[in-house]
Amino acid sequence: MGNDDRRRTIPRTDALLALPAVVEARARLSEPTVRAVISSAQQAARDGALPVEQVADQVERSLRDRATTSLTPVLNATGVIVHTNLGRAPLSDAAMAAVQSAAGYVDVELDLTTGRRGPRGAAAREALIRACPAAEAALVVNNGAAALLLAITALVGTAEIVVSRGELIEIGAGFRLPDLMAVTGATLREVGTTNRTHADDYAQAIIERTGCLLKVHTSNYSVQGFTAEVDVAALRTLADEHHLPLIVDLGSGLLAPDPALPDEPDADTALRAGADVVIASGDKLLGGPQAGLLLGKAEVIERLALHPLARAVRTDKLTLAALEATLTAEPPPVSVALHADPDRLRVRAEALVARVGGTVVAHDGRVGGGGAPGVPLPGWAVALPAQSAEPLRLGTPAVLARVHNGVCLVDLRCVPEADDERLAGAVAAALRSADD
Ligand SMILES: *Cc1c(COP(=O)(O)O)cnc(C)c1O
Repeated sequence: MGNDDRRRTIPRTDALLALPAVVEARARLSEPTVRAVISSAQQAARDGALPVEQVADQVERSLRDRATTSLTPVLNATGVIVHTNLGRAPLSDAAMAAVQSAAGYVDVELDLTTGRRGPRGAAAREALIRACPAAEAALVVNNGAAALLLAITALVGTAEIVVSRGELIEIGAGFRLPDLMAVTGATLREVGTTNRTHADDYAQAIIERTGCLLKVHTSNYSVQGFTAEVDVAALRTLADEHHLPLIVDLGSGLLAPDPALPDEPDADTALRAGADVVIASGDKLLGGPQAGLLLGKAEVIERLALHPLARAVRTDKLTLAALEATLTAEPPPVSVALHADPDRLRVRAEALVARVGGTVVAHDGRVGGGGAPGVPLPGWAVALPAQSAEPLRLGTPAVLARVHNGVCLVDLRCVPEADDERLAGAVAAALRSADD
């Protein structure tokens, strides 16, 4: 059949729209979704990639299988807890339930007792302050980057930010903190060197136009060897001498010290040491939704909250609900994974090997992009042939393992124990298909 003949016999859109399965799908799927499925089948027929007589079948099948979200749940078997490519922190059951219940109409800005307008996000802010008692006040924005943008814009304006060269970090995917600071209109005054910065370096850089001192936690790398940095307390002394605000960007989101990560800075300690405002992400070590947390002195937080930019970076009701639940309910999965008992991980790994094969090997987990760079979290993994990684990824459920030194490592640290059964099924299926 020639091209023109083929074109003439391709089922027309109105005919396809009248098919019973398509009528049914139109009640479930949006009009553009249905029409896109139809036109892609017609196009395939025009291109000769799909026989004309199969167009109707193809449309019906595609619509039947059409999911309304393309995000696929993944079992994280990498041992990396805050995994950037997997959406960082998985929410706790309580936080998921809170998101579900906040999804409809809710009293996010209404006081039900008076019927008047109420303060947005008050409960989430109170929960933050309970978890970080040194904070007098808190503000929640869209993410950590937005929090830093707001703090600099509101507190520094076009003045200078004094910051150590050792702390000018790239967070990931080419996103660099110095670039973010530059778009605010403030000027960076870099002090010290990559490995060593002293209090004197800051002192000498402070001039009339200085607008703040900034300390940034190098969340994803560490400088080893001949190093020196200036701690928050020493920066506070300098800031007081010059009447400057002290902003501390912790990134990682520990609100209080955690014995599992003794060297990881936390918001409560930084505020006690004299920070005016501390910045952290909600979806790193805190284990909550994507959010930027600003914690600090009441008068500073109020200034930030009243700045026009605060409205542009404000967070939605789903985030507020998830954040409050993360802080008030059971420890979230990030915390469970961080504190996983290595002996228990070994027992689970052995149980997996007993069912599907492979070998139990010692394997260190990691916090990941969220903090504690280079800190090993001792545990165990199941070693499988490297070629099982792809079928694991493509299976149902999808499993992301770690391929290292020619071995596929399945680390159970970030897999909820309740999912061990599903994981075993997925591994068994992947091993079968890797054998084929
Ligand atoms: C992660 C991080 C940020 C950015 O936070 P997002 O929530 O990803 O926007 C900023 N500063 C530091 C130190 C970080 O670690």
